[in-house]
Amino acid sequence: MIPAQFDYVAPQTLDEAISLLAKNPDEAKILAGGHSLIPAMKLRLAMPQMLIDLGRIKDLSYIREDGGRILIGAMTTHYQLESSDRLRDICPLLPETAGQIGDVQVRNKGTIGGSLAHSDPAADWPAAIIALSAEMVAAKANGERVIKADDFFVDMLTTALQAGEILREIRITVPQGRVGQAYMKVAQPASGFAVVGVAVNLVRDQGGACTSASIGITGVASKAYRASGVETALVGSSLDAKAIAAAAAHATDGVDANGDLFASDTYRRHLAQVYTRRAIEAAASRAK
Ligand SMILES: Cc1cc2nc3c(=O)[nH]c(=O)nc-3n(C[C@H](O)[C@H](O)[C@H](O)COP(=O)(O)OP(=O)(O)OC[C@H]3O[C@@H](n4cnc5c(N)ncnc54)[C@H](O)[C@@H]3O)c2cc1C
Repeated sequence: MIPAQFDYVAPQTLDEAISLLAKNPDEAKILAGGHSLIPAMKLRLAMPQMLIDLGRIKDLSYIREDGGRILIGAMTTHYQLESSDRLRDICPLLPETAGQIGDVQVRNKGTIGGSLAHSDPAADWPAAIIALSAEMVAAKANGERVIKADDFFVDMLTTALQAGEILREIRITVPQGRVGQAYMKVAQPASGFAVVGVAVNLVRDQGGACTSASIGITGVASKAYRASGVETALVGSSLDAKAIAAAAAHATDGVDANGDLFASDTYRRHLAQVYTRRAIEAAASRAK
C-alpha cells in the first residue's frame, strides 16, 4: 500500500499546470481530490512519476451563473455542489447527485472534475452530466475546446480528454419550464459507488405531457450512457404509471451490462429498469 516514488508540484495558476503537463506528457498526472488517484497509486495500478496538484489554483473552484448557464469549476468539491442553495433552486439534480456520493470525507475532498476525468463506470456524476447535456471545457497549451457530455465518456476509465488537456469547467444550460429532475441509485454498501444510478431531467407542458426527457445511467456498463430508448418512449406521453413503466423497460437497450460478485449482469439490467421507473416517477411528480 505504498506508492512508487514520484515528484510533486503545486502550481499556482492553470497556465503553469498546463505547461508542466505539456513538458511531461508521459510522466505526469493531474492530482485533484486524490480520492481515486491516490488509492490507484497505492495499489500501483497507476505509477506517475510526477503529480501536478491543482489544489492551489484558486480560480478552478466555483459555481457561477452566466446568462442561462451554470458554470462549475473542475475543482469544485462534491460537498460544495451538494450544499448550494442556489443549485437546489435552479438545477436540483446537481445537489441531489452530489449528496449521494460516498461519505462526508469523500464529498469534502473529491471534485466534480476529478470524478468526470476519471470516468469510473460506477461514478455518480457521469449520469447527471449526461442527463443535463453538459459541456466540458478542456484547456491545453494552445487554447480550449468544448466536449459534449455524450462524447466525453469513451470507455471504462477513459474520456475524450487528450494528452496535455486539463478539464477546466463544466457548463450546464439552466433547464426551463415545468422541469422535474431526480437521481436515484443502488449504492454498493461498502464504497457507496453506484451498482446502478439513474439521473432524469424532464419537462412537462401545462397539460402534463412530457415535452423533453434526458436520462443518464451509470453503474451498468463500462461507461455511463444516455438511455435514448427511454427518452424516445417518454416524449409525448402523459407520464402516467403505465407510460413510465413502458419507457423504463428500454433502460438497457443495446447495452452490454457488467456482472460482478455483487450484481450479475441480469440483476443489473433488472435494477436499471426498476430505478429508471422510480427516478422518472420522482422527476414527473416534481415538475410543478
Ligand atoms: C471510499 C470512497 C468512496 C467513494 N464513493 C463514491 C461514490 O459513491 N460515488 C462516486 O461517484 N465516487 C465515489 N468515490 C470517488 C470520489 O468521488 C472521487 O472524488 C472521484 O472519483 C475523483 O475525484 P478526485 O477529485 O478525488 O480526483 P483524483 O483522484 O485526484 O483524480 C482522478 C483522475 O482524474 C484525473 N484528473 C483529476 N482532475 C482532473 C482535471 N481537472 N483534468 C484532467 N484530469 C483530471 C487525475 O489525473 C486522475 O487520473 C469514492 C472514493 C472513495 C475513496
